[in-house]
Amino acid sequence: MIDLHTHSSASDGTDSPADLVRRAADAGINILAITDHDTFAGWNEAADAAATASIDLMRGIEISTRHEGISIHLLGYLLDPDNPELRGELDKVRASREQRLHKMVQAMIDDGVPITHELVAQHITGDAPTMGRPHIADALVTAGVVTSRDAAFATHLSPTGPYYVSHYSIDVFDALRLVLAAGGVPVMAHPLAAKRGRVVDEQVIRDLAGAGLAGIEVHHHDHTPEQTHRAAQLAAELDLLPTGSSDYHGTGKVNVLAEHTTAPAVCREIVRAATGVPMLTNFAR
Ligand code: AMP
Ligand code: ZN
Ligand code: FE
Ligand code: FE
Repeated sequence: MIDLHTHSSASDGTDSPADLVRRAADAGINILAITDHDTFAGWNEAADAAATASIDLMRGIEISTRHEGISIHLLGYLLDPDNPELRGELDKVRASREQRLHKMVQAMIDDGVPITHELVAQHITGDAPTMGRPHIADALVTAGVVTSRDAAFATHLSPTGPYYVSHYSIDVFDALRLVLAAGGVPVMAHPLAAKRGRVVDEQVIRDLAGAGLAGIEVHHHDHTPEQTHRAAQLAAELDLLPTGSSDYHGTGKVNVLAEHTTAPAVCREIVRAATGVPMLTNFAR
């Protein structure tokens, strides 16, 4: 089984990178991609664990981008983490995320919500991870303000709620160029998942395909059956690789490892197209 989209505590997942890799191996996955938001910080720990757990590791990332005001998540696989321009952009996004987290928490405190900056910091468990709204959600749960991350996202963390602050992100076409320049393979995550918020016009996906997008996630927890069907049609029409993945976040989301998977032939194409870093092969065949 191949699962190409998962998160660790290097961003907003709840498993350490090593635990993520071990859980994936236990779940019967033989090729796993670690794709934390806006960071490569989990790669080394995951690589060490993958060697021990005899699982192949695809090193990747999920970049927070936007286009005409709409948030787009761009997965990048096997890209060079030392590309200076890419690193610079990721540093900027993470710094902006940190400031934004602080502003959102302060707005809640000012409004009498019983949390503190310290409590939020306690829920950021990884080693200098990418900070996100899920970390505030966990603090809200601990403080007894809400009962789950889901509930927090529906109330205090909602983009239409009183505490929402956006963060810096680059345009998806710029991010696409950076992933390609770093020798990576760009795949658009959950392209039609309207339940997550506004999604881009299909024309933007066509334009991205023209600009070098390699694939789109077809099978994803947040796609309805109709959206999955449409994404598969788009992939066929635009000659894009159709992937399927769990978007696992540990206990932070209901998504379970390998609940959606990618076909071996599709995975091979990704590996073939990449020139940034190699796939780490440990799986005993
Ligand atoms: P942020 O990137 O900080 O704006 O937070 C968005 C991230 O939070 C997404 O990438 C998801 O991983 C996560 N997320 C969004 N909605 C939920 C939810 N309802 N429950 C748990 N995590 C969520
Ligand atoms: Zn996430
Ligand atoms: Fe995403
Ligand atoms: Fe994700």
